[in-house]
Amino acid sequence: MKPRKTRKVYIGKVTIGGDAPIAVQSMTATRTQDLEATARQIKILEAAQADVIRIAVDSEQDVVALRTLRQQFPDSVWSVDLQENYKLAPRVAPLVEKIRYNPGHLFHLEKNKTVREKVEFIVNAAKDNDCAIRVGVNGGSVDPDYKERYKDDSVAAMVFSAVDHCQMLDEMGFENYCVSLKDSDAQKVIDANRKFSKERPDVPLHLGVTEAGLPPDGIIKTRIAFEQLISAGIGDTIRVSLTLPNDDKGREVQVGREILKDIAARRFRSVPENFLDGLNIIACPSCSRVENEKFVDLAQDVKKMTEYAEKYKLTIAVMGCRVNGPGETDDADLGLWCGPTRVNLKKGTETLGSYSYAEILAQLKKEIDEMIRVKNGSRHRERSEAVGIAAGQFSSQ
Ligand code: SF4
Repeated sequence: MKPRKTRKVYIGKVTIGGDAPIAVQSMTATRTQDLEATARQIKILEAAQADVIRIAVDSEQDVVALRTLRQQFPDSVWSVDLQENYKLAPRVAPLVEKIRYNPGHLFHLEKNKTVREKVEFIVNAAKDNDCAIRVGVNGGSVDPDYKERYKDDSVAAMVFSAVDHCQMLDEMGFENYCVSLKDSDAQKVIDANRKFSKERPDVPLHLGVTEAGLPPDGIIKTRIAFEQLISAGIGDTIRVSLTLPNDDKGREVQVGREILKDIAARRFRSVPENFLDGLNIIACPSCSRVENEKFVDLAQDVKKMTEYAEKYKLTIAVMGCRVNGPGETDDADLGLWCGPTRVNLKKGTETLGSYSYAEILAQLKKEIDEMIRVKNGSRHRERSEAVGIAAGQFSSQ
């Protein structure tokens, strides 16, 4: 393995970067305000030996819950995902060791303020409380300005959004930060992280394939990215995102450690032939924002129901909430994002309707059948045309 050249970043008692061991992270999937369920989830992740546990905080009530939980777990190393609510940073920072913000989510609130002003607000909260920051860029929610600037290159849009944020943090005199560039496509994760590490070899990288989905495919996609990057000296901390029932979330950490152990021993797993050539199901790992507990069951049911279509090149995305669901399903052939009582069905960027949890599978099947019919029709036409051309060539000879 090539040595890593990044500088060190301090997340409470956990160090990432440089020669520090690669830290393994995971995230709670329960509602943060459900104190009993979240405490149980934290214990599960601690028992699995997660180095850093991430918790989502979206509201003042979540901050109150976080404060209560902190009393129960004074020694845990926590990172908080601010998502759209960057204004909570000063109230969250005293309770955690790291704050994650997404550059693509700094547009929704306070449109009169510049991105730089918002970043400065987060940085000041981190400085005052000795917190680390992760600049967490996500392929499904890239800053619209960068999407526009790099229209034909989604990897460059992610990378240069991160590079510019790093420059902003540097100019603000803040160095205790790392970056992540995640996507549901393992190849884009590889390309983005390689490109970024050339631009900023000093900045530690948090690796992950987002919405990798259900095991075993989710594990294979993650392995593909981690093997390529970590063996090349890229990556200082990892998170494996799998769609799992809450009580099995410790498996994310276990899988992460197994992958790291295999890479260190140079045991690289080969990828099954034709992997992802056919049906690709992407699903979010769920978090406190998940709108209905039935989400994980739904993702599992979608996987089972669609087995009959496995040889067709289709991507189906299943997402747990309205925060990221609508955007993260845009690139899929068919997308499902969950509301509290209904599931929204999309075809590319177009919304087809919303259906109850009991109805959605039948509706999804209808759409898949129609796509297969169209695909088979065009294949049939291509074949007939080819036969026609061949016959024409033969008759003209
Ligand atoms: S899509 Fe929503 S529920 Fe799923 S992990 Fe992302 S924020 Fe959480």
